[in-house]
Amino acid sequence: MNAPQPLLDRSGRPMFVCRACGEPMTSDDLFRLGLRLPDDGESREEYCDAELVDEVEHESCGRRARAG
Ligand SMILES: [Zn+2]
Repeated sequence: MNAPQPLLDRSGRPMFVCRACGEPMTSDDLFRLGLRLPDDGESREEYCDAELVDEVEHESCGRRARAG
């Protein structure tokens, strides 16, 4: 099984980084949060404006944070 690839922006840098653990987010991670994938050429800023998100974190990281 292939490891999920991080979502990259047009310059090849990770588009989203988990605010909890600092690891790049993959498309699987976004799906788990119930978020859509960014469109081709959509910037992080455009995506966050459209989806009303500010920062993202892994579903598992968020759960850990909420648990204390
Ligand atoms: Zn994380």
